[in-house]
Amino acid sequence: MSGKHDKDKGVNVQVIVRCRPLSDDEMRLKTPVVVTCNEGRREVSAVQNIANKQIDRTFAFDKVFGPTSKQKDLYDQAVCPIVFEVLEGYNCTIFAYGQTGTGKTYTMEGGGRKKNGEFPSDAGVIPRAVKQIFDILEAQHAEYNLKVSFLELYNEEITDLLAPEELSKFVDDKSKKPIALMEDGKGGVLVRGLEEEIVCTADEIYKILEKGSAKRRTAETLLNKQSSRSHSIFSITIHIKECTPEGEEMIKCGKLNLVDLAGSENISRSGAREGRAREAGEINKSLLTLGRVINALVEHSGHIPYRDSKLTRLLRDSLGGKTKTCVIATVSPSIHCLEETLNTLDYAHRAK
Ligand code: ADP
Ligand code: MG
Repeated sequence: MSGKHDKDKGVNVQVIVRCRPLSDDEMRLKTPVVVTCNEGRREVSAVQNIANKQIDRTFAFDKVFGPTSKQKDLYDQAVCPIVFEVLEGYNCTIFAYGQTGTGKTYTMEGGGRKKNGEFPSDAGVIPRAVKQIFDILEAQHAEYNLKVSFLELYNEEITDLLAPEELSKFVDDKSKKPIALMEDGKGGVLVRGLEEEIVCTADEIYKILEKGSAKRRTAETLLNKQSSRSHSIFSITIHIKECTPEGEEMIKCGKLNLVDLAGSENISRSGAREGRAREAGEINKSLLTLGRVINALVEHSGHIPYRDSKLTRLLRDSLGGKTKTCVIATVSPSIHCLEETLNTLDYAHRAK
């Protein structure tokens, strides 16, 4: 492992790229493919040759998953080792970063629903992580407690996706306090009033995901917003009771944050059109700051600008220090997405 990934230095950022397959429509339209993945060499190339313009760029990453990669492959190779760290008591974060329509939600949540007691083969990172955590803890006969929270960040405002209250309440009545962030005095941040659900079986996770996405959809319609502009954070907190060799009881606590980021096209669009620049600026603050925070961590810079956005404030106790971070950059193979694909590969490469 390179120095940048040296655990002793406390920085551990892994950057992987996943390219989705062409959709059925794209196949039907014979859309040219301009992205090639070499999983063995861990390289992604974007190539386009047209008369007056030639693009041929190759980027190397920690891992690369091509269009035929399965959800299980990505989970086993990239996520599973992180879950073990969480169970050892570390705070870890996995981000899905990329243009809208490239597979961020597919990667994090996946498709399908549980059938005959089995997870569908296209189950994503969230249900797989929860299942693995339960399997390990049950096998160890551990005494534990597992809680999840699910929130959305839109325009630097937080919505609790698991809160039972009617959405209209906090839309109409402005005086009803929005969910606020407070420093917890231990380097972390608390979200006042955030709902945390205790989960007892892996099955329950689909109900929670459904509840969250239903609320996300309602909020989208009511507030006339676009989900491609919001970030969602699904957090799993685990407390495990352990006994020291001296027979003393202690509680080990680990946390896994699974973050489905706003579409990265929002970054390049910001500032482009004057009228919307301000709004876009707010929406992008979190994405831009996240990039700066990750760069600063990787470069061992003295100042890490956590405070510059809500997203990085929220994740502060899980970024840097004794944590593991994984950025999954998702791209489309299509010629029509080439410009954004290059932007995504550049952003992801800078995080390495
Ligand atoms: P995003 O969340 O980045 O906007 P989605 O996850 O909604 O994108 O993916 C867009 C579409 O592409 C969905 O229909 C999804 O099922 C499909 N898709 C994305 N990635 C893959 C993949 N690796 N394999 C198969 N289908 C995929
Ligand atoms: Mg999505």
